[in-house]
Amino acid sequence: MKQRIAPLSGTITRLIPEITALYKDFHVHPELSMQEFRTAKIVADYLTKLGYQVTDKVGVTGVVGILHNGKGKTVMLRADMDALPMAEKTGLPFASQTMGQTLDGDKTPVAHMCGHDLHVAWMLGVASVMMAHRDAWQGTLMLVFQPGEETASGALAMLEDMKTGYPLPDIILGQHVMVGKAGTIGYRAGSILTAGDSLHVRFHGKGAHGSTPQNAIDPVMMAAFTSVRLQTVISRETAPQDSAVLTIGAIQGGTKENIIPDEAILKLNIRTFKGSVRDNVLTSVKRICACESHASGAKDPEISVINSYPVTENDRVSTELLAESFTTFFGERAYLTEPAMNSEDFSQFGRRWQVPYVFWFVGGTKESIWDNAVKNHTVHQIPANHSSLFQIELKPTVQAGMEAMIVAALTWL
Ligand SMILES: [Zn+2]
Ligand SMILES: [Zn+2]
Repeated sequence: MKQRIAPLSGTITRLIPEITALYKDFHVHPELSMQEFRTAKIVADYLTKLGYQVTDKVGVTGVVGILHNGKGKTVMLRADMDALPMAEKTGLPFASQTMGQTLDGDKTPVAHMCGHDLHVAWMLGVASVMMAHRDAWQGTLMLVFQPGEETASGALAMLEDMKTGYPLPDIILGQHVMVGKAGTIGYRAGSILTAGDSLHVRFHGKGAHGSTPQNAIDPVMMAAFTSVRLQTVISRETAPQDSAVLTIGAIQGGTKENIIPDEAILKLNIRTFKGSVRDNVLTSVKRICACESHASGAKDPEISVINSYPVTENDRVSTELLAESFTTFFGERAYLTEPAMNSEDFSQFGRRWQVPYVFWFVGGTKESIWDNAVKNHTVHQIPANHSSLFQIELKPTVQAGMEAMIVAALTWL
């Protein structure tokens, strides 16, 4: 693999300033899920200029670039494009100041605090290198720029528009920048990311004046008791060797101190690795929400799904091949990673098309910060993806992510 990449390395190095500038541009102009119009236009224009066969507006804002380069395998590479409805507090000179509107109409700050801006920039760099070095590989390259990862809607939306007219890939590859020493590559066969389920629970009470609780069914109490009781789903109902997470991220009810409201809302998020654990946790959550309502004398709550991500389970044989390529190229910088309790809709493509897929992590934490944290056992304190302080050390991360995708693609091409 080292010999195969060697002729490409000059092009990769030459591209770094351009790809870094593209990254910063995406970072300054973040766009919310399924509204990635500006990003998608830049991507489509860039690929068209390179000479790719480009289809845009796939699943609203998705872009697919295809390059046929002789006989051989078809490799699909995927990058997600959306930012998050949150403010950035890194204080970086190119920090986001953007305000946006969610699809529900709520005004919110918008920032790329998950690193999808880097994912897009990386893959544009890869597109450029693979086009410039068509003599170094054979087959078909399919680049998929996906909208709406953060809402679990983008991959499914693209799949609806990709039923015909696209080659079926032999392998699907994707990567995510994460907390980890900058420039390292973490791979893992089998489960690497959890399933994620987000639920919206509406408790129906009966409103009254705050001075007459006897006339009310208090939904605030229902939400409060349920929040506490739900903690026992993990601590008392889940085996210690089966990891699972249940977080109540929002608890909302009422407007004023002397009004008992009609209803209260809980929004919760569940992460699991095993299908059986996922089923049990979901069943228990529904049971507890209903039973706490009944305990208050209220009717059943309304429970709806906000989003649902399947587990990301890397194909074993393909991951072994990839691990060999990564170790040959990156040496000690490639390592066997622990699974992460994050979720992705990346696997939807492989699931729908029944094609093996591999997803891996690229470390983006400044080396000195990482080494200190490891020494002091404070890795968990490094601001991670979705923190307003999440920061990527661009050198060497820009280069490592481009190299990882190229090394991975060439494993099949
Ligand atoms: Zn994210
Ligand atoms: Zn992400």
